[in-house]
Amino acid sequence: MTSGGDAPGMNAAVRAVVKTALSNGIEVYAFYQGYQGMVDGGDSIKNMGWDSVGGILHKGGTKIGSARCMKFRERAGRLKAAENLIERQIDNLVVIGGDGSLTGANLFREEWPSLVEELLKKKKITKKQATNHPKLNIVGLVGSIDNDLSGTDMTIGADTALRRIAEALDALSSTAASHQRTFVVEVMGRNCGYLALMSALSSGADYVLIPERPPEADDWAKELCDKISANKKAGKKNSLVIVSEGAKDKKGNPINSFQVVDVLKKRIDEDARLTILGHVQRGGAPTAFDRYASTVLGYAAVQHLMDEEDDKESMIIGLQKNRVKAIPLMESIKKTQSIVGLISNKEFDKAIELRGGNFRESLETFNTLSRAMPDPKVENVIPLNILVMNASTLAPGMNIAVRTAVRLGIEKGHRVLGVKNAFKGLINNEIEELSWMDVEEWTTLGGSELGTNRKMPENRDFYAIAKNLESNNIHAMLIIGGMVGYETAYHFCEKRNEFPAFDIPIVCLPATINNNLPGTDFSVGADTALNSIIEAVDKIKESAVANKRVFVVEVMGRYCGYLAMMSGLATGAERVYLHENGVTLQDLQNDVNMFKKAFNEGKRMGLVLKSEYANEIYTTPFISALFEEDGGDIFDVRQSILGHLQQGGNPSPYDRAMATKLAAKSIDFLVKKAGKGKHDVVSIGLHGGHIDYRNLEDLAKMVDLKYSRPKEQWWTRLERLINLFGRSSA
Ligand code: ADP
Repeated sequence: MTSGGDAPGMNAAVRAVVKTALSNGIEVYAFYQGYQGMVDGGDSIKNMGWDSVGGILHKGGTKIGSARCMKFRERAGRLKAAENLIERQIDNLVVIGGDGSLTGANLFREEWPSLVEELLKKKKITKKQATNHPKLNIVGLVGSIDNDLSGTDMTIGADTALRRIAEALDALSSTAASHQRTFVVEVMGRNCGYLALMSALSSGADYVLIPERPPEADDWAKELCDKISANKKAGKKNSLVIVSEGAKDKKGNPINSFQVVDVLKKRIDEDARLTILGHVQRGGAPTAFDRYASTVLGYAAVQHLMDEEDDKESMIIGLQKNRVKAIPLMESIKKTQSIVGLISNKEFDKAIELRGGNFRESLETFNTLSRAMPDPKVENVIPLNILVMNASTLAPGMNIAVRTAVRLGIEKGHRVLGVKNAFKGLINNEIEELSWMDVEEWTTLGGSELGTNRKMPENRDFYAIAKNLESNNIHAMLIIGGMVGYETAYHFCEKRNEFPAFDIPIVCLPATINNNLPGTDFSVGADTALNSIIEAVDKIKESAVANKRVFVVEVMGRYCGYLAMMSGLATGAERVYLHENGVTLQDLQNDVNMFKKAFNEGKRMGLVLKSEYANEIYTTPFISALFEEDGGDIFDVRQSILGHLQQGGNPSPYDRAMATKLAAKSIDFLVKKAGKGKHDVVSIGLHGGHIDYRNLEDLAKMVDLKYSRPKEQWWTRLERLINLFGRSSA
């Protein structure tokens, strides 16, 4: 069941639960309208088949409905619900909802023996029924756009809500720029500032108001007005203030968005306009993350119910450090509720601590960035010259990484120089200082304003580069890009004896849509590319509804199958072809047969996702032709090579936030290391949810150089889910 506030991605979770259960021979029912359906019984409880969850993966909201149900809050309602469950021999429950729904589920589980006893006493059930159902197993998945539950790093729906907010903010920023205005935008989050904070971080907002961290000044309005006035003085035309629904001042008084607009107008005569985003944040198609993460979670929920017969308490299946984890349900909920208590007691530091590392780090980065000003008063700093550049193919998010590096470098009292056109530009001395205002508009821009390409320096190029580093007196270097950047940084390190100019600290920041870099679970740009792919595939699928057709869709990634795998999972592909797992003629033959059988049984559309270099011989045209020929009259085949749309578009909020945080940490690292001791050459990355640095020499051992990808990739094991869910029946 899905219950409470709906969240995009719930459908993906329901689909995964139903299909995993059915393929294990388990009977599945859906309660329509959450607990209401459970209490009402009858037609509100439906037996689910394989096809009941067809065509819902990409839809927002929840197909099986959600509701708030007063009756379930009373024991009488829960008694009726228990009767309906026992009638259908249901004794395992997957509840997808927020903390209210999950609390209700836990209560139901705890009361279960007494409910059964009462039903027996009232002769609503037989003795045999009572003995057959001594307990109810519960597993919860957290559906909430607020990302407010302790114990899971992400809740279902939060990523999509952030995307909706980012789309709105991008649209607003273009109109704000034409009019010299300040936009005040209110986003959801009654007790949790996650959406406000992450959207502020990823939109380059100037000020954010969240429940967990009220403004430090007694007069918050003055602090806000000073900030907006200072921006104006620095040359900024427009400003953006994000207000969380639950924002408070330091005494605990609510601050609403109307007040914010009012003070800006009255105190500094600012042309301030208010936008309250409201329910658009809940709507629309789920993002790639909400589709694949919910799919993985739904699968894990059923596995958990099958594996752990004797859970001592109700559990939640959540995500911790990019891994699926079972967490005690009530412990999570108590922690979540205690944060609300801490906020009302004004114990803000503790509240932030409980929100977890990602929240704290994002807040710190936002604060530093919003403090950063063009003419900082820095004392006792010997100014460094920090070089920043892009390298390898385009990755959305490169610009925001450069912007962050420039602003934070300047704020710390240093000069930041940008290289045009990647290593080609470095060889040709295309190096220019970047000012605070040069990068003002770079937050939302896709592409690479500095320019990027795949040129790798060789032979005499190193001499030219060393000369240019020397003539520009470079003390430290940040390379934002893919394997080309990593390999070149490694060569710089090797050639230090020959060229002392290379003896500087260097950080490589992972930015490539391919996500093929060692030392990080994710690279900047991959999330945006995945979202571009699923949007394209959604359209392709729609176009096929009228015909019996198989689509072979080729995505980028070179020898790394990340994009194919994750977009396959997020679009419900029947098969993915990856270089990592190989493709044989036998596989292709089996797949044609699988499709033939499925279309003969009534299937209307098939989808295969292929990574571009999956196999040298079995290319996309080859596979399409083979399928077409062998499919005969049963289905026809179309190929679609998605191409460069995957590298384009505005970066997703996830990529923006990641680029910002990684760039901020990179600057910290470079400033700390430059001119002191051994000059490390490192990559920065997200590993198990934390930002850390890896020595490039260690990374070299982790890479399969022939195919330019890590030897171990965390996502390869997900193929079994594609094969499981891609079947045409249980
Ligand atoms: P969310 O799950 O999004 O937090 P609610 O708090 O509104 O949403 O809860 C959804 C439904 O879960 C409620 O309408 C009610 O049926 C059930 N529920 C919530 N809290 C409890 C509780 N303490 N006891 C029993 N049922 C509850």
